[in-house]
Amino acid sequence: MSFLDNVISTGKNVVSAAGKVTDEAVRISKLKIKETQINSDIKNRYEKLGELIYQMAKSGDKDNEAFDESIAELDECYAKLEEIDKQLDDLKNQVACPKCGAKCKIEDGNAFCPKCGAKLPEKPAEAAEETGGEQ
Ligand SMILES: [Zn+2]
Repeated sequence: MSFLDNVISTGKNVVSAAGKVTDEAVRISKLKIKETQINSDIKNRYEKLGELIYQMAKSGDKDNEAFDESIAELDECYAKLEEIDKQLDDLKNQVACPKCGAKCKIEDGNAFCPKCGAKLPEKPAEAAEETGGEQ
């Protein structure tokens, strides 16, 4: 009986560990797809912005509402990209160096950027894992 319990609980552990890894891979690829979509969105917006600036220059109308809107939308896109980048860092267990921006894998004792030597920020993922866990 206890042997069977062991087998069952061991099996469960294996499944949940594998499930976690797959889940992470899925989340990473979903984030990357989002990132690609936002990047092409940004490209389109720059194209429109270019047209707008051309029209503004031609018409002499410097006070164009569409222009301000367009800038705000681009800012929103960049904010979204930054958010995705942070989530990807968490999933990949890495942080961006605050000085040079290099992506640094967080390993034991890796408190400084291997590229420029700046002190790396503490990894905030411990708190994120609690909320993300399955109950
Ligand atoms: Zn650095």
